[in-house]
Amino acid sequence: MFSTTDSIVAIATPPGRGGIGVVRISGPSAQQIVGRIVNRSSPLEPRRATFTTARNLDEVIATFFPAPHSYTGEDVVELSAHGSPVVLHAIVDAAIEAGARLAEPGEFTLRAFLSGKRDLIQAEAVADLIAAATPLQARVAFDQLEGTLTRRIAEIDAMLFDVIARLEASLDFPDEGYHFIEPAEIAQRVGHVLSELDALLAAARRGRIIREGATVVVAGRPNVGKSSLFNMLAGADRAIVTPIAGTTRDLVSERVDIGGVAVTLVDTAGWHETLDVVEREGVARGEQARAVADLLLLVIDRSEPLSVEDEQLLARTVDRPRIVVANKSDLEPRVEMSRLEPAPTTEERGAPAKEVIGVGATSQAVAGAGFSRLVCVSATTGAGHDELRDAISRALGGCERLRDTAAISNVRHIALLDQARASLAAAQGAATVEGTPEEFVLADLQHARARFEEVVGVRTTDDVLQHIFERFCVGK
Ligand code: GDP
Repeated sequence: MFSTTDSIVAIATPPGRGGIGVVRISGPSAQQIVGRIVNRSSPLEPRRATFTTARNLDEVIATFFPAPHSYTGEDVVELSAHGSPVVLHAIVDAAIEAGARLAEPGEFTLRAFLSGKRDLIQAEAVADLIAAATPLQARVAFDQLEGTLTRRIAEIDAMLFDVIARLEASLDFPDEGYHFIEPAEIAQRVGHVLSELDALLAAARRGRIIREGATVVVAGRPNVGKSSLFNMLAGADRAIVTPIAGTTRDLVSERVDIGGVAVTLVDTAGWHETLDVVEREGVARGEQARAVADLLLLVIDRSEPLSVEDEQLLARTVDRPRIVVANKSDLEPRVEMSRLEPAPTTEERGAPAKEVIGVGATSQAVAGAGFSRLVCVSATTGAGHDELRDAISRALGGCERLRDTAAISNVRHIALLDQARASLAAAQGAATVEGTPEEFVLADLQHARARFEEVVGVRTTDDVLQHIFERFCVGK
């Protein structure tokens, strides 16, 4: 399905004007094609920047990377011209006239994968690196590009391979009575593989949030200061702030970098019973946004006694990942902080106390599970802003620690590893049941191994590859 016998061409730099623009040509006849474009009789020297002209269109620097020492693993020539769309398109046209084909999205990286230069995790990491919106996203993608995750999966796979090999050997020589591994040892070794896999999957939620960003929804009854808080976090007067209740009729959202996580911050319409049709629609959308949020910022006006609506919202969101934000802390407080966190359940009583942070609340502590926190702020004065950002960042896992772990972040990888986990658990269970034919255990282990191979791309169907590479830009 994927042809690598022809040569492909595309502009590798982003659309628009710039100092320099690069046209890249890859394939067996890359050199001949460039030979027909540039005004130069002698062949290009490998890996040397050569100054020449292209078809009287522009001055170019041509660099030849012979196979296999190139991005794609094929012969590649890069032509750096001035960053004019007109010039670059003319060079691409000239290359097509000289025998090249216009590259499909991601085709250069696809060829790198097909030629064995990169595995699938690394190829996907290239797209992630290009799409990164925060330095932490770029860092996680670069780690994967460098092979951190590939190595981790290879280690786990090697443990599994050892069990499979011994089990296969036992099955190959049944009559001789050889037994290379006993069921108890299979169960124990598979248990070890499972715990390694679990450790990898445990970091997946954080990894996914870093790769895909998180949705943080600002909720609360009207007039508690949601829009003001949204603006404080977004750093601009984006949402309309008014003293009239119910002003935010639709969802307003903004992309912000909080501790390296690309956060989509959503301001919802005030949560309250309303008769206004437009406003009601806004409230409904707010409900939906809250349902999909990775984190809720539940805003309370601390300068007024808690209303029924506040109490309802506090109760309704108690099981959700949330931070209770006690706003208007520049004014006289009229809400006891202890009322903003639910009483701890029996199991939670033994849990470590959580700090209440922010203005005027440094010494208090509230018990509870998860990362639910209470932060005091003033959206008007900006007090508590840093503490709130810090609490959001920690709740989403965008802390320093993450930078040192092999993060699994891609939903495709997570889904495959989940499937591998299920097969391993089945194999472990079967191994502990006396009389289970070893073939059954082996089949489950082989199924798990096949999922590992799919993650790195050793066994991947063409349509999966097509789906992955489609999301690349042309020229990559
Ligand atoms: P929303 O309806 O929840 O989005 O609330 P707004 O952000 O529109 O704010 C409602 C009113 O409260 C406005 O008059 C704001 O200026 C005021 N306000 C918001 N935050 C604070 C704060 O921290 N301190 C004080 N004193 N007033 C605030």
